[in-house]
Amino acid sequence: MATKLPIDCVLALTYNCNARCTMCDIWKIKNSPELTLEDIAKLPDSLRDVNLSGGEPFLRKDLPEIVAAVRQACPKARMVISTNGFLTPVIDKAMEKILKIAPDIGVAVSIDGIGEMHNTVRGIPGGFDRCMETVRVLKQKGMTNLRLGFTITPENVEHFAKVYDLTRELGIEFTHSFAQSSEFYFGGKQNVNNPDPVVLKKAYKHIINSELKSWNLKRWLRAYFASGMCRFITEKNPVLDNAPGRDFFFLDPTGDIYPSVVHNMILGNIRKVTNFAEFWQSEEVEKRRVKVDAMKTPVWMICTARTALYRHPFSVVGWIVKNKLFGY
Ligand code: SF4
Repeated sequence: MATKLPIDCVLALTYNCNARCTMCDIWKIKNSPELTLEDIAKLPDSLRDVNLSGGEPFLRKDLPEIVAAVRQACPKARMVISTNGFLTPVIDKAMEKILKIAPDIGVAVSIDGIGEMHNTVRGIPGGFDRCMETVRVLKQKGMTNLRLGFTITPENVEHFAKVYDLTRELGIEFTHSFAQSSEFYFGGKQNVNNPDPVVLKKAYKHIINSELKSWNLKRWLRAYFASGMCRFITEKNPVLDNAPGRDFFFLDPTGDIYPSVVHNMILGNIRKVTNFAEFWQSEEVEKRRVKVDAMKTPVWMICTARTALYRHPFSVVGWIVKNKLFGY
């Protein structure tokens, strides 16, 4: 049977970046190549989630045109822009246009700690205040699909629960990830990421139980994702199988298509693709998938987890019911 078309992808629109993060060297890349509107027009309409990422996506002056191109190529896809949030006036102006094209679009502003902690992790003095101003401006536009994104590192793990609490105060959503190593993403940065397990588990307990107390399916699913992330970080073992290079892919600014940001296997280049379905279901790509499977690289990120949730709905529902009734 032919491989199904992917439902989830991350687009690195550019590797140009105005931050100086401790866990990522992308900002050291100068004059990054960039994905073009022609590249984006080739995305398959099977996609249900598209993350517009970078580098810093708001450095692209044509971001509104990019959003329009994604909407046209994949009309059923939910879109989220992941930003470091430092370019408040630029973001303000671009979102004015973007919200007219895609009123339901989401924005995730990275916050890796409160105050000085965030400034240190992101390498930008005064960065926390700038990000909070960005959030204020976006809220003022009436955006409801707004979230803070926290990246766990050993240095900021003490702030994990605090940033979660900040989202509850602000009435916006919370998402998080774990600083990983990659041979080709994060500027090739190799992170040794072993946050204090006691602090980490305590923060997860707080976050998961708080999410489960709500009457909101999205937050329950987020609690499940968080429990999987806790296990992944402490045991390096994903809770559910996921399918890199099948359900999802990562597209870099040169057009190279990878199974994910941590699987170093180019499946092809979108610039050479004339028909995405034919490419995705070709024998050559299938052979590369077999090699990807053999890598056995454990992975648990929002894109991989989201697709795994679709594949294993009963395990997820069972986990939610049990932990909602008895606590995590
Ligand atoms: S983590 Fe994001 S904001 Fe930080 S340097 Fe990398 S791409 Fe830029």
